[in-house]
Amino acid sequence: MVAKLLEGKQIAETIKAELKSQIAALRSKPVLASIMVGENVGSEAYAKSQAKTAEALGVIYQPHKFVSDTSQAQLSEFIGELNSDNRVNGIILQMPLPDHLDYKKAISLIKPEKDVEGIHPENMGKLICGSGRVVPCTANAVMELLNSTQTDLYGKEAVIVGHSGIVGKPLALLLLEKLVTVTVCHIATSKANKLKEHVARAEILIVATGKPELIKGSWIREDAIVIDVGISRVGGKLVGDVEFEAAKTKASFITPVPGGVGPLTVAMLMRNLVACVRAQL
Ligand code: NAD
Repeated sequence: MVAKLLEGKQIAETIKAELKSQIAALRSKPVLASIMVGENVGSEAYAKSQAKTAEALGVIYQPHKFVSDTSQAQLSEFIGELNSDNRVNGIILQMPLPDHLDYKKAISLIKPEKDVEGIHPENMGKLICGSGRVVPCTANAVMELLNSTQTDLYGKEAVIVGHSGIVGKPLALLLLEKLVTVTVCHIATSKANKLKEHVARAEILIVATGKPELIKGSWIREDAIVIDVGISRVGGKLVGDVEFEAAKTKASFITPVPGGVGPLTVAMLMRNLVACVRAQL
């Protein structure tokens, strides 16, 4: 059997069309402010796609660039300015920040009502309570892809590899809400030599480690749904965390890299922006 491809682009287009009409019905164009400190090829590409999507949907995108030796105090002060600027509806802090800056501290300063990434501690807390207004974009993109397979998630066995605050942890909570049985693996699972046995149990496998082809195709359970969030550049080519060619002969559905999760992430960001605008009204 060869797996069906789970491509995010088409789903993203449908969501963006809905968002465009919701945005057109708002009193004024929403404003999304982006903060980037220093230079990074990956985050510049992500910011470019945010700007492009914003323009297509009728959102005003404000890019704010800072030099790499910007201090924590300067960053805090600027976040404070955006918080109190009534014209700004959403704030995104582009990652990664230079090493001398404390990312968690910066995120915690963003007004929760303007946190378009859904990663402020207050919004994360609401996610745990099942009452989140904004959901971390990548985790939400994975849920959209799962939804597109029309699989009944109830009681399914899901294994997430990667426990970051933007992907693995929020995703575990979103899956629990659907009464999925969730296992979260990480670096220590690998070090304990247990990754393969967990992966082999997964009816739903989601991988977000940034380690190219960490998951071997032969480990994958027959008919599993495989969602590969990871993206790395190897020899000039973009590859995921799953050995794609081998995995697609075992899985029922699989995301390509690129073209799987990525295209949906920006759509989820814009969905969060609309939720922020509504909360501010
Ligand atoms: P992170 O570095 O914050 O976390 C990596 C996770 O992988 C950790 O839980 C770590 O313990 C685990 N890990 C690392 N090596 C491992 C190993 N050998 N075995 C098992 N677990 C291991 O990463 P992140 O920010 O969550 O990003 C992960 C990947 O997803 C990256 O490739 C990133 O580029 C990609 N990403 C893609 C999107 C998108 O929209 N497509 C969004 C966010 C992140």
